[in-house]
Amino acid sequence: MDLTYTAAEEEFRDELRAWLRANIPEEWGRPEFWESLGDEESFRVRRDWERDKAEAGFAGIAWPTEYGGRGGTPGMKAIYDEEMVRANAPRTVNALGLTFLAPTVMAIGTDAQKKEIIGPLLRNEVIWCQGFSEPGAGSDLAAISTRGVRDGDDFVVSGQKVWTTNAVHGDKIFAMVRTEPGSQRHRGISMLLIDMHQPGVDARPLKQMSGASEFGEVFFDDAHVPVTECLGEIGEGWRTAMLLLSFERGASGIGQYTEFRRQYDEIAAVAKRLGRHRDPVVRGKLARVLTELECLRLHAMHVLTEVEQGRDLGFEASMTKLQWSETFQDLWEVFDDVLGEDATLDAVDGLDLRPWHAQSMWSRSVTIWGGSSQVQRNVTAERVLGLPR
Ligand SMILES: Cc1cc2nc3c(=O)[nH]c(=O)nc-3n(C[C@H](O)[C@H](O)[C@H](O)COP(=O)(O)OP(=O)(O)OC[C@H]3O[C@@H](n4cnc5c(N)ncnc54)[C@H](O)[C@@H]3O)c2cc1C
Repeated sequence: MDLTYTAAEEEFRDELRAWLRANIPEEWGRPEFWESLGDEESFRVRRDWERDKAEAGFAGIAWPTEYGGRGGTPGMKAIYDEEMVRANAPRTVNALGLTFLAPTVMAIGTDAQKKEIIGPLLRNEVIWCQGFSEPGAGSDLAAISTRGVRDGDDFVVSGQKVWTTNAVHGDKIFAMVRTEPGSQRHRGISMLLIDMHQPGVDARPLKQMSGASEFGEVFFDDAHVPVTECLGEIGEGWRTAMLLLSFERGASGIGQYTEFRRQYDEIAAVAKRLGRHRDPVVRGKLARVLTELECLRLHAMHVLTEVEQGRDLGFEASMTKLQWSETFQDLWEVFDDVLGEDATLDAVDGLDLRPWHAQSMWSRSVTIWGGSSQVQRNVTAERVLGLPR
């Protein structure tokens, strides 16, 4: 395992830091600023900022230059993730497209798909959604029933997706659709790239208890999709989905570590401020989470070394997902322990707790999306360790 970056990589860090310093207004660091904008405006500001960042050359860091990427090393990508967190930069509004779809298209897309999808994605011209989950198919993805019936050069799609992140902002959705009539389970599914701005598609927001509507439902009622808009072979959508999920689950460990470690330091500071660090149970929990975090850092460096040596993560990505999501959740459970009986208050000792509560609530979701922890354990047991079902 290599724990160092090259001189060229460190030079890239300096360049990126300088750009971020010059292009993140100071007020963006204050939660009140984003609250004052509201959901729509805050989405637009982040979308535009990300486009400017791409135009300055800070997007698609490790993607080949032929696709509009920077052609950098995996080490540069890790530095990018780290510096984005350090600078408190806005989160991407197009994670599903940039992190999962783009690498899949680069690996198995047609030339036309590479040309049409990757450049516009980098500049945020097209916001992508992921249409996997359905009311009757979550962990059991092979149970999907959205169907596509061949009609000349099109598939005509009907059915429903749910928990669709960015549903109300989406321009296109990569969706698992049963395109072989009468097919069962993993067979006969295709991954279709569906235009959401057409009469047969209706995206409706789902309101969460936090008040936000990060995800929604998408209804298809005779939506038309040209057969050329299939990613991977027709009927081989399962294979395409497994490739895509390996990118979803194995995503950036270094950036996650940097973010979680910063949150940990802030939580430890709150514990001190409230005098809760003297409670032996809280101290023990803080120590345990710190140990988990450092294991996460080492695992992230291990994965980075593997990727630099050209190894494909494949099903091992499930182990990465399991580790970061459970560490993150443990971290925010400790925060609730630190607050103790004050956990329901909006503010304590002059400290505005609302952004912290939002993080704590968000942490509950990370062991569900991208495949639940139970599912990651099943995959690890069966596919990585070769244990019997
Ligand atoms: C914030 C958020 C964003 C999301 N965004 C998207 C999105 O953009 N696109 C999309 O398609 N989906 C999205 N999802 C949906 C997510 O992928 C599903 O919620 C997830 O796959 C679980 O499916 P389910 O909710 O139907 O739960 P179920 O599959 O009904 O699972 C319920 C419980 O049973 C357990 N379980 C199920 N099967 C097994 C098994 N074989 N062995 C052991 N335990 C099992 C699960 O672990 C879970 O604890 C999102 C979810 C969240 C929370």
